[in-house]
Amino acid sequence: MAATILDGKVLAARLRATLATRVAALHFRPGLTVVRVGDDPASGVYVRNKDRAAQEAGFIARTIHLPAATTQAELLGQIAVLNADPAVDGILVQLPLPPQIDAQAAINAVDPAKDVDGFHPINAGRLASGQPGMVPCTPRGVMHLLAESGAPTRGARAVVLGRSQIVGRPMAQLLLTADCTVTIAHSRTADLPAECARADILVAAVGRPELVRADWIKPGAVVLDVGINRLLDGRLAGDVAYAEAAERAGFITPVPGGVGPMTIACLLENTLDAALARRAA
Ligand code: NAD
Repeated sequence: MAATILDGKVLAARLRATLATRVAALHFRPGLTVVRVGDDPASGVYVRNKDRAAQEAGFIARTIHLPAATTQAELLGQIAVLNADPAVDGILVQLPLPPQIDAQAAINAVDPAKDVDGFHPINAGRLASGQPGMVPCTPRGVMHLLAESGAPTRGARAVVLGRSQIVGRPMAQLLLTADCTVTIAHSRTADLPAECARADILVAAVGRPELVRADWIKPGAVVLDVGINRLLDGRLAGDVAYAEAAERAGFITPVPGGVGPMTIACLLENTLDAALARRAA
């Protein structure tokens, strides 16, 4: 039986509309500032999409575009200005950064209360210790998609493929908080297909096109594909072999149109959370 498709475009549009309604009811407009350094073309597309989505939902969106030759001290100085600006609720430093800048130093410089990417070690620590904080946007979006499936999480076996700071690790923490029994698998895992085959919930965040085959998937499982891979012919593919996996999974996210659109919607959700938390503090 073919899987039910978890449509990230539809869900993200619904979430953005809900956020727009909540923002319209406030007596202020939450501010999101994206800092972009250099001219990475993919970053340009992401930043424009973030800007448009934020404006449409009623946020004050601003992009500060610094030259590729910006020094680390200059970037940290710019971040300090934004940390001190009361009109700025969320700061996002767009990655990748040019090689002369230590990305971790830039992440560490953002006020954790304005860290809408959820990458600051304080927010990562809060997530790992079960305390409220800023949660990285992509895993937060995956949790929305999982909730949409209606699949139970309590006691479910979840397998996360990938252990990055941005996706894999925070994803595993969120699933743990949702009472799943969580396995993190990665490039050194001994038997990846066997680990995956146990999963009621499988999240792939690896960056290898169509690595996950149908016979790795437990029949009826929820399959959430974070991967975005550009194939030689220009098409986009996920980390899951979608066509064959959809014959076996219970629920599946497509690429594109699954997790990707949720990431931006959750960035706005984080910015609204940050704005409300700062004003309540
Ligand atoms: P990363 O390169 O930082 O991490 C990849 C992880 O996959 C590593 O932990 C590594 O151990 C593991 N891995 C690599 N090869 C493997 C293999 N053959 N078998 C098992 N594990 C393997 O990547 P990331 O930043 O976590 O991103 C992962 C993917 O998700 C990429 O395709 C990226 O483009 C995509 N992504 C999508 C969104 C979105 O909004 N949809 C956001 C972030 C990342």
